[in-house]
Amino acid sequence: MKTTICYSFFIFSIFLLINGCIYETSRIALVPPKSEQVSNWEKILNGSQKVKLITINTGQVRVPISGMLNMDDPKTNVLKDEEINVEVFSHLIQHPTQGNFLIDAGLNSSFQQGNQGDLKGWIASNFVKDSFQKPAQNIAAQINSLGVKLKGIFFTHLHSDHTPGLTELPKGLDFYVGQKEYKTDFPLLTYNEHFEGVKKLIELDFTNAPTIEPLGNVINIFGDGSVWAIATPGHSAGHVSYLVNSSDGWKLLAGDVSHTRWGLENNVEPGWVDDRDQAKISLQKLIKFNRLYPQITIFPGHQY
Ligand SMILES: [Zn+2]
Repeated sequence: MKTTICYSFFIFSIFLLINGCIYETSRIALVPPKSEQVSNWEKILNGSQKVKLITINTGQVRVPISGMLNMDDPKTNVLKDEEINVEVFSHLIQHPTQGNFLIDAGLNSSFQQGNQGDLKGWIASNFVKDSFQKPAQNIAAQINSLGVKLKGIFFTHLHSDHTPGLTELPKGLDFYVGQKEYKTDFPLLTYNEHFEGVKKLIELDFTNAPTIEPLGNVINIFGDGSVWAIATPGHSAGHVSYLVNSSDGWKLLAGDVSHTRWGLENNVEPGWVDDRDQAKISLQKLIKFNRLYPQITIFPGHQY
């Protein structure tokens, strides 16, 4: 009897897991024009449209350092295996003709209550131990006080610390994600309702995107060189980093290719990865690019 109950529970859990994996909002692909002239970075860095970039700090989460950094890397021997507080950012891009866009959605106001905010599930507390947010620090409050009307959100990836803001932002925006990126919705285990009411995701299709080394496939988002999407899989299957020509200079928003500045400076990929080899390659190419063009300021995903 006991075995039957265990077995049924096992099958039910597998069903929920699979269901969580395959459930997706419908997707269409944004394919960059094939005819686009492949250029070189010197030319792009010197002659592209500028945009305004405002980085918005939407609160902090307390996480194990072993998630942020691969503690099996001998370089981390100098570090203590502990929990640390890291910031959760959303970046506002204000394009002079294309409109206002966010990179990642930031935290919603549920994180003012602390703990895991609106993240649910038995193992959610394995990832987020606690959270800290001041009144009016949530993304919607900050966007409102800036008086900005948003057109869309470009996601670095869909992990649940990058999507909570969706619950308090308009549903009709354009939502852009990397190829093969999936939501971390595993019912009972770890899940959220951030995408409720969101009907469509636009997938950034890197298949035919121009290759400009050392970054590989890149998409010239607005066609004027102001914002570039860079395929950086590894931490998640369809992770994307963004290079932005801001009025304060070029900024490379690495996203969770490296959560921490220590990881970027010491070339150590995150502990939490979908594919470790790919995560190492993505981190190395961003570091190489930054060494070639030191005028670009590189920012890790959760520290500034
Ligand atoms: Zn993250």
